[in-house]
Amino acid sequence: MFNIFKCILISALLGCLLLFSCSVRTPNQCQLTTSPTIIVDRPGKILQYWDEANIPELWVPLKAPSKLLSAFRKAINNSTSREIKTILKNQLPLEQSLEDRQNISLTLSGKAGTIRPINCFESLMLEQQLARKPMITEPTEFLAMVLSKGSMLRIYFYSIDQPGIGNVDEIDKIVGQAVNDGFKVIFSLHNHNFFLKKANVQGGIAPSGNDVQVFRAQRESLGVEKALITNGFDTLVIDKDEFCIFKAVE
Ligand SMILES: [Zn+2]
Repeated sequence: MFNIFKCILISALLGCLLLFSCSVRTPNQCQLTTSPTIIVDRPGKILQYWDEANIPELWVPLKAPSKLLSAFRKAINNSTSREIKTILKNQLPLEQSLEDRQNISLTLSGKAGTIRPINCFESLMLEQQLARKPMITEPTEFLAMVLSKGSMLRIYFYSIDQPGIGNVDEIDKIVGQAVNDGFKVIFSLHNHNFFLKKANVQGGIAPSGNDVQVFRAQRESLGVEKALITNGFDTLVIDKDEFCIFKAVE
C-alpha cells in the first residue's frame, strides 16, 4: 500500500514538473520560445532562424519593453524627439537623395504606408540586435524575414552589424529555399537607427530609395506581402500594393 501511495505522489510531482517546464509561454508574455538555429555566425555577421508557433501574443502592441529596449529608448529620449512626425520633419531637409526625401513626404502625408506603435514581435527582433551591439554608440541594422506554413512561423534574422544592411542576396537565397519548401513570406522587417552624434539624427521610418528597390525585388522573387520598418518606438507598415507608390533608386 505504501508503495502505491509513494508511486502516486512521485507521479503527481513529475506531472507538475512537466507541466511547468512545458508551459513556456503564459498569456500576455512577449517572448520567443525556442532557441535559434544558426546558419552563419562569425564576427560582424549573423544569419539564424527560429521556428515558432504563430500565436496572437506576438502581434499585439508592445506593453512592457525589456530592459534593453527601455535603456535604448531612454538614451534617445534624453537626446532628441521620439515623436515620429517630428523626427520625419527634422530629417526631410537633411537627406541627400531625392527618393529618400520623396518617401519621407509620402510617409508624413499618409499617402503610403501606415504608422503604428511597435508591437511585441518587432521589439523582440530589435532586442536581438540590441543584445549584439550598443545601438546608441554603434547603430547597426538587422533584417528579419517572416514566413508561415500552416500554424508555424519561420523567422530568419540577418545582420552584418553595419549601419546599412547592404546586399541581401545571402538571406534571399535561404528564404527562397524555404519558399520552395512550401513557406509563404508574410513580411520583411528592418530597423532604422538614430545617429545621435550627427547633424542628421535620422530615426525616421520612411523607406529609403534603396529599401524600396529591395522591397520590389523581394516581392518579385519571394512573394513578400508587406515590408515593415521600425525605430524602436513606431513601425511603418507598407503593403505590397504600396511598393510602387514609394520611390526606388534606379
Ligand atoms: Zn531602410
